[in-house]
Amino acid sequence: MVNFDNTAIAFQMKNDAALDRAYFLFKLISNEPLVKIGTAATNFALNAQLPVEGLIRATVFDHFCGGVNEEDCLQIIKELGSYGVQSILDYSVEGKVEENQFDLAVEKNLEILSFIKSREEIPFAVFKPTALGSSDLFYKVSQNSDLNESEKNAYNRITDRYHTLCSKARELNIKLLVDAEESWLQQAADDLCLQMMKTYNTEQPIVYNTYQMYRWDKMKDLEKLFDLASRYNFLPGIKLVRGAYMEKERKRASEKGYNSPICEDKKETDLNFDKGARFILNHIEKASIFVGSHNEHSTLLVLNYMEEYNIPSDHKHIWFGQLYGMSDHISFNLAKNGYNVSKYIPYGPVKDVMPYLIRRAEENTSVAGQTNRELELIKKERSRRKLL
Ligand SMILES: Cc1cc2nc3c(=O)[nH]c(=O)nc-3n(C[C@H](O)[C@H](O)[C@H](O)COP(=O)(O)OP(=O)(O)OC[C@H]3O[C@@H](n4cnc5c(N)ncnc54)[C@H](O)[C@@H]3O)c2cc1C
Repeated sequence: MVNFDNTAIAFQMKNDAALDRAYFLFKLISNEPLVKIGTAATNFALNAQLPVEGLIRATVFDHFCGGVNEEDCLQIIKELGSYGVQSILDYSVEGKVEENQFDLAVEKNLEILSFIKSREEIPFAVFKPTALGSSDLFYKVSQNSDLNESEKNAYNRITDRYHTLCSKARELNIKLLVDAEESWLQQAADDLCLQMMKTYNTEQPIVYNTYQMYRWDKMKDLEKLFDLASRYNFLPGIKLVRGAYMEKERKRASEKGYNSPICEDKKETDLNFDKGARFILNHIEKASIFVGSHNEHSTLLVLNYMEEYNIPSDHKHIWFGQLYGMSDHISFNLAKNGYNVSKYIPYGPVKDVMPYLIRRAEENTSVAGQTNRELELIKKERSRRKLL
C-alpha cells in the first residue's frame, strides 16, 4: 500500500533551499491574524498600485502558482512529469464581469487546449463557470427567475461558450474539468454541464462536472446523474471535492435565514465524500472519477477499493488531483506507485490570481486544516536531510 509518510519521495523535486522556503511560508500562513492583516494589506496595496507584486511573487505566488503565463509553467510541468506527476493548467483569473472578458476567457481556454494537445503530461483542461458568464446570470437561472430578452441572449451566449470549449476538447481528445461555484450559482452550472455530458460524453468521459460533497444534497444529485446517464446513454465524468466556500455558504444562509446547504460538521462531509467516491467506483466502467482532495483517508479509501476489486492502479477512469504547492506527499507517492495523478497549476497575472491565493492562505490557516500536516512533513524531511 502507498505510504504517504515517505517524505524523501514527497519532496524529491525540492532542493534544500526550496524546502526551507516552503517551511517558512507554511509557518507564516499558519498564523491566522497575520494572514488576515496580510490579505487586507495586500488588497489595499494592489488597488493603490503600490509596488508589491515582487514581494507577492517571491512568497505565496511562487509557491502556489506556476507563473504568469503557460510558458512560465512549462519548466515545472516537465519536472513534475519526470516524476510521473501530470499537470493541469489552471488559468486562475477570477471576478471578471464584462461580456468581452467572457469571450476572451473562451479564447484563452482554446489557446490552452491547443497548447496542451500534444503534451501527454497535461491530460486535462479546466475552467470555472463564472469565467464564461456573469455571476448574476448564473444566480438568476439557478433561482429559476424570469429573464428579460437581453439576459436570455446573454445566457445563450454562455451556452455557446460551453459548447465551443467542450466540442474542441472532444475533437482534441482532452478531458475537460468544470469547477464548482457557490451553491446559489451552481444549479445553472450543473444544468449546463449535464447538457454538455449528454452531447460530448457519448463515447468516453470528456466533460467532468464537480460535485462538492460538503453539500448534504449532493449524494442525491450524484444518483440522479447516473440515472440520467443510463437513460440518455452517456458516460459521466465527476470531479469529486469537499468544497471550498464553507464559511461564505454558512454566513449567507444565516444572514438570509435559509437552511445551510453545508453538512452539519466535518465528519458528515467526510462520510458524504467517501460515500460519493464508493458510489462512483461501483460504476467505474461507465464513468470516470477525478478525486480532487488532499485528504489521506479518502485517498486511501479509493486505493483500498481498487485493490479489493483488482482494479489496475493506472485505470484510465480513475484520477487523483491535488493543488500545486500542497500535499506533495500524496501526489508524488501516488505517482511513484503508478496511479494517475495530476496537479492543478494555477497561473495568471499576480493581481488576477489574488482571490485564488487568498483562498489557499485561508485554507492553510485553519487549525483543523492542512498546515499542520504540511509543516509536520516538511519538518520531517528537513530533519532527514539534516537541515535543522
Ligand atoms: C484538484 C482540486 C480541485 C478542486 N476544485 C474545486 C472546485 O472546483 N470547487 C470547490 O469548491 N473546491 C474545489 N477544490 C477545493 C476542495 O473543495 C477543498 O476545499 C480542499 O481540497 C480541502 O478539502 P480536502 O478534501 O482536500 O480535505 P480536508 O482538508 O480533509 O477537508 C477540508 C474540507 O472539509 C470541509 N469541512 C471542513 N470543516 C467542516 C465543517 N465543520 N463542516 C462541514 N464541512 C467541513 C470543507 O469542504 C473543507 O474545505 C479543489 C481541490 C482540489 C485538490
